[in-house]
Amino acid sequence: MCGVIGVIGSPDSAKEAFLGLITLQHRGQDAAGILTYDKSFHLVKNVGLVENVFSREAIDSLSGNMAIGHTRYSTVGKGDAQDVQPLVLNYPYGIGVVHNGNLVNYQSVKERLQTEMRRRCFTDSDTETILNWFADKLEGNSFEHIRSAIKSVFENLQGSYSVVGLLAEGGLFAFRDPYGLRPLVLGKKLVDGKPAYMIASETIPLSFLGYELERDIRPGELVFIDRDMKMHSFVVDGTKPHRPCMFEWVYFAGAESEPEGTPVYGTRLELGRNLAKVIRERMERGEIEADIVAPVPDTSRTAATALAEELKLPYREILIKNRYIKRTFILGSQEKREKAVDLKLNPVVSELKGKNIILVDDSIVRGTTSKKIVDLVRRAGARKIYFVSTCPPIRFPCFYGIDFPDRRELIAADRTEAEIAKMLGADGVVYQDRDGLLKSLDRASHSRVKNPCTACLDGKYPTDVTESSRFAALRNSERGTG
Ligand code: SF4
Repeated sequence: MCGVIGVIGSPDSAKEAFLGLITLQHRGQDAAGILTYDKSFHLVKNVGLVENVFSREAIDSLSGNMAIGHTRYSTVGKGDAQDVQPLVLNYPYGIGVVHNGNLVNYQSVKERLQTEMRRRCFTDSDTETILNWFADKLEGNSFEHIRSAIKSVFENLQGSYSVVGLLAEGGLFAFRDPYGLRPLVLGKKLVDGKPAYMIASETIPLSFLGYELERDIRPGELVFIDRDMKMHSFVVDGTKPHRPCMFEWVYFAGAESEPEGTPVYGTRLELGRNLAKVIRERMERGEIEADIVAPVPDTSRTAATALAEELKLPYREILIKNRYIKRTFILGSQEKREKAVDLKLNPVVSELKGKNIILVDDSIVRGTTSKKIVDLVRRAGARKIYFVSTCPPIRFPCFYGIDFPDRRELIAADRTEAEIAKMLGADGVVYQDRDGLLKSLDRASHSRVKNPCTACLDGKYPTDVTESSRFAALRNSERGTG
């Protein structure tokens, strides 16, 4: 998962892209970059957090009234400097792109680029293959030409991709894969009476920088804003069902975001309320005896408050987070994850000692972090710990940009709740049920999330993932894991 942003029409485009990326930092913390255009391209990018990549001088060097930016979360590629986005090609016209998502037929696309189009890639990044495919099919820099190139992208590149790009002397373009797996929103404001546009992964940078949310970019849609600030848009492929990723609402998106007209905060409240129903049944059967409800900070806090209200139990913050350590799930390796969790949370002993605790987390993926948290709370003096997840059991890999690609790493892949509880060292584990998840997403009357992707729960992928599965299996066998 990554954060992408594009700005056109603002004299402060680089500064706005920078501030926008800061508000999208939760979507990826490995690297960041900004590209602007003003007669020539200007590019600053590096590994690290947004605020560390850009000095004041760097922002000042990014001149021009159009910009694209990216904050990276590594899933494909080596994760080193050469994969950092934006990526740029000088021919034809000069094109720069940023991308959120994952191609599921990356290997064959890369091969076809070499054999059919005589194009070589420098990196292992799927973004480079998208850029090259698009560039190869682009025969002019009008909207019609872009549309025709995107049609070819949609016909040949499978997976999730929300892309924002700059076409030198052309304008700002953006497109979203036909299933709309990853979010992308469009906003507008007036600068000195003239329109300026922002396109971003989430609504947060829009409201932060004074842009009014116009709408989501539609699945399969191309949007192009030319240098005269004329907006062109067309749904190039409207034939596929809309399958936005449910995990955006469960974990990834900021609580104040509102993708697909469906507030993340409100959805997380609903997740808490629905989960409370499952827990209440178990309390009535005498399987759970609880004194307090506590969140695992930060994402699950919203759901935990609603769950506590619903169960009429006190809500307590028993784990205090050291805010200067990166989100553990995002960190690239197991070793980094384990080290980070040791440092990240401190228990409030006075509030948990001798208590029976319902400990709420947004999800349980590998279980590594959950186990350490249970251990931490237990050592601090809790009596009973019920570890509850606002997300149903994650049993299948995600090939669309969330970093849980190997089924054997998933704690719920083949285990019962009792087995998982034992592995975590908890007195019980309770998961949201699938119905509760879908109801939570559908709660808002204007919600457009009727049929989200839930492939990591049920193995029903919106696209063909044969190539990704094969590649993941090969990679795991090379690693010696099977
Ligand atoms: S498989 Fe899961 S995490 Fe991946 S896109 Fe689908 S819902 Fe999201």
